Order: sequence, then C-alpha cells, then structure tokens
Amino acid sequence: DTALMLFTRDLRTHDNPALAAAASAADRVVCAFVLDDTLLALSPNRARFLLGALTDLRGRLESLGGGLVLRHGDPAAEAVKLARETGATGVFFSEDVSSYASRRRARLQEACRKERIELSGHEGLTVVPPGALRPASGDHYRIFSPYGRAWLGQARRDPLPPPKLRPPNQRASDSRAAKQPPSSSGKSGPHSVNAERVIGRFTRGASPDLPKGGETEGRARMRDWLAGGLSGYADGRDDLAGDSTSRLSAYLRFGCVSPSELATAVTRETHGRSAEGAEAYIRQLAWRDFHYQLAAAFPELGWKDYRPRNTSWVEDRDALDAWREGRTGVPIVDAGMRQLRAEGWMHNRARLITASFLTRNLRVHWRHGLAHFAGLLVDGDLPNNAANWQRVAGTGNDTRPNQVMNPLRQAERFDARGEYVRRYVPELADLDTRDIHTPWETGPVPGYPPPIVELA
Ligand code: FAD
Repeated sequence: DTALMLFTRDLRTHDNPALAAAASAADRVVCAFVLDDTLLALSPNRARFLLGALTDLRGRLESLGGGLVLRHGDPAAEAVKLARETGATGVFFSEDVSSYASRRRARLQEACRKERIELSGHEGLTVVPPGALRPASGDHYRIFSPYGRAWLGQARRDPLPPPKLRPPNQRASDSRAAKQPPSSSGKSGPHSVNAERVIGRFTRGASPDLPKGGETEGRARMRDWLAGGLSGYADGRDDLAGDSTSRLSAYLRFGCVSPSELATAVTRETHGRSAEGAEAYIRQLAWRDFHYQLAAAFPELGWKDYRPRNTSWVEDRDALDAWREGRTGVPIVDAGMRQLRAEGWMHNRARLITASFLTRNLRVHWRHGLAHFAGLLVDGDLPNNAANWQRVAGTGNDTRPNQVMNPLRQAERFDARGEYVRRYVPELADLDTRDIHTPWETGPVPGYPPPIVELA
C-alpha cells in the first residue's frame, strides 16, 4: 500500500516523526510539498530560503530511494488529489499551531474524510509538543519560569534515522494521473510543478545576504555549532558584533533541523566541556517551545494583546518609515534595522532594542513592527515573532511589563566598541568610539539624520 507524506515546515529526512511513521505504515511513500501562494507572498526572503530547502529535500529523498512531488495551490485540496492519483490510503503530516495552519488542517481533515483517507498528524515542530505540558490550573503556561522547569524535566529522545523509501507506483487505472506529463527528473510518476518557476515570482526584492536553505546546510551548521560555538554562548550571546549565536533559527523555522535532535545533542553537552553554554542554549529552545504553546492556546497572538494594556499608541507614518529604513538617527537602532534588511536576520539583542525603540520611544503599535519583521525575517514565524513583540511592548507574558530599555545604555553595554554600528551604518564608520552611539553630540554627520526622538 501507499502513504502520502505531506511536508509543510518539517523539511528534513532526519528525525522527522511524520515521515518515519509514513514509511513504517506503508510499502511506498509519496512525498509531497504544496506551494501555497498565500504563504509565499508573505516574505521574499522566506520564499528564497524555501526554494533552497525544497531543492535540498528532493535530493535527500531521492538518495533514500524516494522523490518529492511538488504541487501548487491549496495544500489540502492538492494533497487529497495526489493521494487519489497515487492510491495513497493515508496522509501523514506534522501538526502546526498558527491559526492559518489550523484552518488548513481542518480543510485537509474534511477532504480526507470525504475520500476515506486516513489523516495522521505527528509532532516534530517543537521539542515538546504544544499542550503536552500543562500547569495545575489553566490550559497553558503564561509565565516562562515554571514552563521552563517542567520542560527541562522532560526526558530527551534519540533522533529517528532517515527512513528507507520506495517511490510510488503509478496507478494505471487513474486516467487523470495517466495524462500527466512525467516529472522533471524524467522518471515516470506523479507530475510535479517547477519550484523555481512558481517560487521565483515571490523572491523579488529578497535580501542580498541570505543563508542557504536546506537540511544539508542546516545539519552542517548544527554540527559546527555543537563542536565549536556552544562553549562561548553563555558569555557571547549578547555581544552584538561578536555574532556568537547559532544562527540556526531559519533552519528550525523550516524544520531543516529537528528541534528535538538539537535539544538532545545540547542536553548531552550540559555534562561536558560546554556545560555553561549548553545550559544557556537549551533555555532558548525552551523559550521557543513556550511560545508555541502560547500561540496554540491563544491563536490571536499575532494581532490581539495577550495581556491588554492601556496604551495610547501613536499613528506616526514618518517615524515608522524612518524606523523601517534604519534612519532614526539612533545608531544602534539603525544598525539593527539595516542588518535585518541586508541579511533577513537580526541579532536577538538588536531585535529587543529596535522593538523597544518602536513601541516605547516612538509609541508606535507593536503590530506595525511585527508586520515589518514578518516581511523580512528568514526565521519569521508567528509564535516567536508575535510573542516576542508583545513581550517587549508590555502586552505579552513579561512579568515586568513596564520595563523600558534605554537604547544608549544598551549600545554601551552590548556594542561597547561600536563595531556593530560601524558594520551596518557606514556613514558613521569613521567616528571615534566615544561618539559612535551619540553622533549628534559632536555635530551633524554628513548623510546621517539627527535623532527623530529625544532620548531621555
Ligand atoms: P540563538 O541565540 O542561537 O538561539 C537558538 C535558538 O533558540 C534560536 O534559533 C531560536 O529558535 C530559539 N530562540 C532564541 N531566542 C529566542 C526567543 N527570544 N524566543 C523564542 N525562541 C528563541 N525568533 C524566531 O525564530 N522567529 C521570529 O520570528 C522571531 N521574532 C522575534 C521578534 C522580536 C521582537 C524579538 C525580540 C525576538 C524574536 N525572535 C524570533 C527570537 C530571537 O531573536 C531569534 O530566535 C534569534 O535571534 C535567532 O538567532 P539564533 O538562531 O542565532 O539564536
């Protein structure tokens, strides 16, 4: 018999519970991904990363004996159509938490029910599935500390190896399938759309310095990180210029790297040479899961205050534009915003500083910041983006919602020599370290604006 594995954002062959389950449930597995315009349109950077990830996934699946069928349209409708064409009796996929993913799942379930196809959802996007940990009272954890304790107490599991695959047989009886042209690889089988052609339309305007998508690249980075990066993480993670974080976020976002496999490997390191770094790092993976369970329990996280706060937001187009373009006149803020535009990624400390600046100094609503980040971040995902924005804005799960960051103090602490600013704001590159974070104090700098707001 045949099973259909519907990939979404679990674009890997290692430690993919849904793929492993499909391979053990059926003799043959049709692996598929459906290109969805609604998602592709959200961010040219993520579209480009996705293209790399799919190309890599196809190669990996072929080396396991299978292949990857690409379709274009509504994932639920296309998956069921493909299941019919190939005679698949079950559809396997990874459970997701966003409201978009929930609606997609509901459509898939309904379509499968009509066709008497079994739908089988699996974990795989987080280390601990959302909802698996619950507090004594309430349906989800609202505060990180108790969640983190419970999360750390969970046993880690060994990663699942990539399964052996056999490609599907074409069903001769299916006239629709018989009419389809052969796939681009030349082998017969269900037809596939050309990913480059479909995704290409959505990558215009992508950032110039994006990371390369895919499991192969993600695993190489994970290995390097575990071997070399982790030990310096505890001390270096907030140093803006040092760039001492793993940069695995986009690979986790698209599931090119398994969060569970990463957590198991890092947990092992908590007893080794890199113990301190490993302890700090594992907490970040717990934060990621914490936000997923938050988003699962509060699907409005992307547009509604989690903890409503009486704030008078200011509608200031000019200020918002200056912030987006990295022309606020506050060097540390501008450096972060320009890094985001150039790389589709921003250092976590800079994300905190720029988000705080927008919501606390400019008093612009967090939703505007969230939307800008969502359009550019290659790791952009709803649970982490929304939960972090709300946290900084004081409407989220922070236990000290009134705490405000002073961008100048932050700059002095985390970019003491001004290297981060010099890297991303070339107009200021020649300033003395003494002046680099406060250029207005020594008079105007050609080509660089004065601060758009007074920094008390
Ligand atoms: P590392 O420091 O190496 O951390 C390892 C992993 O832990 C990350 O890859 C990430 O998966 C997770 N992690 C680290 N910090 C956080 C955190 N604060 N919250 C949740 N998970 C975390 N992260 C995203 O993955 N997607 C987003 O859309 C996103 N939006 C953000 C928006 C704002 C306003 C802020 C302040 C933070 C946001 N973050 C987001 C969290 C964090 O900035 C990034 O995960 C991190 O910078 C990614 O770089 P890294 O992989 O080198 O991180």
